[in-house]
Amino acid sequence: MALTGLEIFKLLPKTNCKKCGMPTCLAFAMQLAQKKAKLEDCPYVSEEAKEKLAAASEPPMRKVSFGSEDNQVQVGQETVMFRHEEKFYNPTVLAATVSDKLTGQDLKKRIESVNSLQFERVGTKIGAGAIAVINDSGEASAFAQTCSQVADSSSLATILVTESPEAMAAAVGKTSEATPLIASAKSDTAEAMAKIAKENNCPLVAKAESVEALAELAEKIKAEGVEDIVLSLDGLSLPEQLYNLSRMRALALKKVFRPLGHPTISFVADGDATAQSATATSLICKYSSIVVVDTVEPYAFLPMLTAVMNVFSDPQKPVQVEPKVYPIGEPDANAPLMFTTNFSLTYYTVESDVEASRVPSYILVVDTEGTSVLTAYSGDKLNEKTVADAMAKHNVEKLVKHRKLIIPGYVAVMSGKLEEATGWEVLVGPRECSMLPKYMHEIWK
Ligand code: SF4
Repeated sequence: MALTGLEIFKLLPKTNCKKCGMPTCLAFAMQLAQKKAKLEDCPYVSEEAKEKLAAASEPPMRKVSFGSEDNQVQVGQETVMFRHEEKFYNPTVLAATVSDKLTGQDLKKRIESVNSLQFERVGTKIGAGAIAVINDSGEASAFAQTCSQVADSSSLATILVTESPEAMAAAVGKTSEATPLIASAKSDTAEAMAKIAKENNCPLVAKAESVEALAELAEKIKAEGVEDIVLSLDGLSLPEQLYNLSRMRALALKKVFRPLGHPTISFVADGDATAQSATATSLICKYSSIVVVDTVEPYAFLPMLTAVMNVFSDPQKPVQVEPKVYPIGEPDANAPLMFTTNFSLTYYTVESDVEASRVPSYILVVDTEGTSVLTAYSGDKLNEKTVADAMAKHNVEKLVKHRKLIIPGYVAVMSGKLEEATGWEVLVGPRECSMLPKYMHEIWK
């Protein structure tokens, strides 16, 4: 169990030297107890105390990684029940299945379909993060062969799904240099599966029908030397899963019950693509770290990925686009140039109104830490200096021959200073970007 702040304090040097950045050892102890500080921040902890304190500073849920170096996924490491309490760290990974009963062109086509489940939404790339090979054939050789073909044809992280230790042993070495997640060990195969996981340095899924049985199984696997464990509830209805996943999350985070302090995985195979998408979305909300679905329909994936994006966005950080120059249409050296901020909502609204004008243009996006025009201006993140710096950084003078810059009507007040700072003529655009099409046709010269 985790130590309390006072218990931690008793193990600290109590010199209040402030080297850790805290005013006192007690303050540091309290931060450590809440997982808001790192033990390494105090250089004077004795070796004896370190051992006890290391456990207290560990996150209540272990982080598990799998995949290749270039395409690694991470799950777990969560510290709160609800996003607004701090933030969620690792978004749910969505995986699509490939059956080892498929061969030839059918197998190739299925792998390509999984690979192509990639989209762009509000400037962010989202998509399937893993591919799950299912041992439907029940044969070790077919499973190994399919895993080998998946490794050759997909760079996605791999989940190997069989309950047969023999099939797992045959397949696990076929995933090239990448580390697969191996699924699953049950109580009667725990030793054999843990041996394979340990020998191949892979994380292992523990599968059981109740929270209590899962906790026991996780401890058994840990005793075999496997630390990276993912938990799977087997054979439960969706309401039962949601209830028990929530219980597991609460026991892991609030009670720091280590046997359940692992990420989770759910398998969704019932129903058509629409039904699977709805089930998976519920599991994304509460509290599956990995969801494996048996569909490759883009229309089913997009809502799931959108849910992941929304649930796992950082509440303290606005969604942002990259600060740079965005060409709209095919602008030339006479095209209008305007700026806006890197708050996604602002940028995409401006972008769609510029597109609607059908006047090829350049939009310079100024880094205002994801705030909108008026918020950035009032917080001094949007001023003549930040705009001039962005113009210089992104070489706008090489893009256009004219020296005219359209600015949002709401910050007309900065016109004079901006002209002085840049030497460019400042044209005050409309206050509402919905008026941009009219402005471009009637006023831009
Ligand atoms: Fe106390 Fe260590 Fe912080 Fe110094 S660095 S105040 S000894 S906790």
